[in-house]
Amino acid sequence: MASRRRFLVTSSGLIVATPLAGAWASKSDSDPFQLGVASGCPRPNQVTLWTRLAPAPLQGGGMPDEDLTVRCRISRDSEMRTSIVDTLVNAPAEDAHSVHFIAKGLAPNTEYFYQFYVGEDASPIGRTRTAPAPGDERTIRLAVASCQHFEAGYYAAYADIARSLPDLVVHLGDYIYEYGPRPLGRGTHPLQPDVEINVVRQHASPEVVTQWDYRNRYAQYRLDPDLQAAHAAAPWVVSMDDHEIDNNWAGYHPEDPHRQTDLEFRVRRWAAMKAFYEHMPLEHPPRLNNLDASLQIYDQFQFGSQLNLMLLDTRQYRSDQPCGQAFPADDDCSDRHDPALTMLGQNQETWLKGALRNSDTQWNLLAQQTWFSEFRYPEERYNMDQWDGYTAQRGRLMDELANPQLSNPVILSGDWHCGAGFDVLKDFSQPDSEKVAAELAVTSISSPCLWSSAVAAAVPDNAHTKYYGGDQRGYLWCEISSENMIAENRVVVAPDRVDSVVVNHASLRVEAGKRGLDRL
Ligand code: FE
Ligand code: CA
Repeated sequence: MASRRRFLVTSSGLIVATPLAGAWASKSDSDPFQLGVASGCPRPNQVTLWTRLAPAPLQGGGMPDEDLTVRCRISRDSEMRTSIVDTLVNAPAEDAHSVHFIAKGLAPNTEYFYQFYVGEDASPIGRTRTAPAPGDERTIRLAVASCQHFEAGYYAAYADIARSLPDLVVHLGDYIYEYGPRPLGRGTHPLQPDVEINVVRQHASPEVVTQWDYRNRYAQYRLDPDLQAAHAAAPWVVSMDDHEIDNNWAGYHPEDPHRQTDLEFRVRRWAAMKAFYEHMPLEHPPRLNNLDASLQIYDQFQFGSQLNLMLLDTRQYRSDQPCGQAFPADDDCSDRHDPALTMLGQNQETWLKGALRNSDTQWNLLAQQTWFSEFRYPEERYNMDQWDGYTAQRGRLMDELANPQLSNPVILSGDWHCGAGFDVLKDFSQPDSEKVAAELAVTSISSPCLWSSAVAAAVPDNAHTKYYGGDQRGYLWCEISSENMIAENRVVVAPDRVDSVVVNHASLRVEAGKRGLDRL
């Protein structure tokens, strides 16, 4: 419960911060800044700053049911000695007292520090960085992350990211998992009895369904100090995959339609999108049109003349998976070639084609969720939750990527909990076919790769696989210069240790002008 001294009610009814410059809060139970700070959506002249007031993070936040204002300062120095911005920003009760402050008028390619204050409490200090201006040729350093099941391991990968101070962190989804808790300790996985898993910590509630549940779930994840440190170290660009709502959902189709009605899933989808927004440094809130919730995720972010990052959304507008959700599908399924099936939806596909045709940067990254390249398992089986379930739209995109006018396309993917690198071939059945692009698949921050032996066994039958990292936790560290994009698969040595060492397992290179991948 927030104590009275922290929030002063003014004559206008607003509750405002008492301005105590530079004060550091004692981290008591009622500290409203336990969820830390974050920044995101970096542009040359702006960045979005985030915090959420939640003195009782696992019980709905614990704030009074009133809109608040919070003081925000931005500084050029890491100790916040002088302010270049000092203002009051809104923390609406309707948004769980989250703050989304789009700080405008900033200088390009500049490091900033920021801090929030309310009552006697001050947030941790965050570091962020604006994007370089168009024409700037400097090297871009980015970390790519996905899939961070809280129970399956600690976040040593995020500690490593936080230490490295990247220009940008790109998150490809599965930021939370919706499931209830599993028993602590070593055991077998319910879906994969031959795979041992180690549950190192537990979800605090059963499977999340309501807005209350999702808020508390995000709060539980965000209480992790290493995740918090990575948010405080760099701006993020975030997307959703499936577990932010429900395993393998697509459009308005839940994983298990027999367990939730259409109406229940629509309400759930809205609650999940709302809670995602409330915990992320996003520019746009979700919209509700009758019972249709939508969240603008697909977008592009330009970093000087080097990088155009196109962030895709492969869940919200997706057709239901063809031939069921079995992995891999029991046998080849001709429906997966249906040209009406879509991962992106028509509007996003049209937008993406335009973005690719108009792009003039040296590198063009498609940051999206599931494996893009074909990956054939024995007996012609494929994973219908990946692009193999949507081959017609993949083919249309590959035609765009093959455009010789397009400079250096590279696809980033997550979701599959194992690191890999592919040459995206015009014809995957012909190993010497034209290389259209390179694909870099990031492993998971903490989620186990229950299917790693099936993937490893299939690698020899997929000759376009240039690298397979196996069942290891970690992230991709990418350095993008005029000559090269170099990606390191950095892996966590001991996923069940908070303080695990993180090492480079492999370095992959895409040379400018060559569309394929080399292992260094
Ligand atoms: Fe995942
Ligand atoms: Ca996923």
